[in-house]
Amino acid sequence: MTRLHLPKFSLGVGDRFAHQAKAQLQACVLAKGEGVDVTPVWNKSNREHLIIGSSPKETRAAADVAVREFGWTGAYFVDADHINLENFERFLDPCDFFTIDVADQIGTAFNEEEMEKFIGRHPELQGEISIPGIQDPFRTDKAFVMQVAKQFLAAVQHASKIYQEICAKKGEGTFITEISMDETTSPQTPLELLIILAAIADEKVPIQTIAPKFTGRFNKGVDYVGDEKQFAREFRDDLATIAYAVNHYGLPENLKLSVHSGSDKYSIYKGIRAGMQEFNAGVHLKTAGTTWLEELIGLAEAGGRSLNLAKEIYATAYAHADELCEPYEAVIDIQRNKLPLPAEVHTWTSDQFVRALRHDQDDAAYNRHFRQLLHVGFKVAAKLGQRYTDILRENETIVARNVTQNLFERHIRPIFIGS
Ligand SMILES: [Zn+2]
Repeated sequence: MTRLHLPKFSLGVGDRFAHQAKAQLQACVLAKGEGVDVTPVWNKSNREHLIIGSSPKETRAAADVAVREFGWTGAYFVDADHINLENFERFLDPCDFFTIDVADQIGTAFNEEEMEKFIGRHPELQGEISIPGIQDPFRTDKAFVMQVAKQFLAAVQHASKIYQEICAKKGEGTFITEISMDETTSPQTPLELLIILAAIADEKVPIQTIAPKFTGRFNKGVDYVGDEKQFAREFRDDLATIAYAVNHYGLPENLKLSVHSGSDKYSIYKGIRAGMQEFNAGVHLKTAGTTWLEELIGLAEAGGRSLNLAKEIYATAYAHADELCEPYEAVIDIQRNKLPLPAEVHTWTSDQFVRALRHDQDDAAYNRHFRQLLHVGFKVAAKLGQRYTDILRENETIVARNVTQNLFERHIRPIFIGS
């Protein structure tokens, strides 16, 4: 059976209001101009669809139009991001990439019998495990494997159930499968990843990407917070582990890591690229809200009533900060006392607004609290409805330039091109 295949380098692009597909694709066109194939994957989670009141069909339509207008002949996909058993149905037709989210099932009711079977099937997971590329062998015992299985087996089996349901309705091989475990509290070590991959292989889920939780904090739209060296070490060990698991458990040969909340993590891109080069590995980098922030930057740059609208969005977001932050608690860090007051922002020039928002850490005017609040503030723009989208359309050129440059210069270049 031939299976839809995800190329080595891929970029998840989120497009909250379905107006930037062309500007996003343009970033991949620029990469191609430098001889590097980067596959765009339009991702939008159920959570974002609900907040905006949009549907996966619209994401598909915007992607198709952009691809057609550019004459893009490369692969591209539409990702049902973070779906589960309750909400996958409406993604079936428009999507050909499914990110099955089982973070909620981690550590839940495990079945003793299933666990014994798993342990029995995998004597190789006990004792000494030497993974090429990782210097010291891992040493494990039955108790350790059981402890990991207790955490993850139910989650993997649940993912398998969702995968089977999608297969039954869509047909095997007609979509890319990712399993995500990133929105949970503790990071997974390379050894845990190996055990999880063994369980996924048992279930015969042909995953092409997996999103573990990495060490450190991946806050939305801002840089990585954590030990960059430790991240780089674990990332390369994860790559070694994946290569090993592909060989030992017959997982798809193009299986790669998916980095969620991957936008704007400038301080770890070097480590990611170094690991990719060492193992000749690919990566899937998911970015989403970074594009909506570029829309706001474009509007602020345009000045006049567009700038006023950006200010209005901030003032409303400021007034509703609790409600806006709540669904994103695990992935933002906003110090309220570092947020400028709306009255102050009201007096800002176009340049002041742009500099506070644009992700340039060398600029003293950059404010990551301001940026994060606006990141989760897309609901405010969604509520403005046509008032927002009309103004986006009026400023298409200036917005598109920001969207493309951000994806190409700040994301594609450091990770996939490296210069
Ligand atoms: Zn995610």
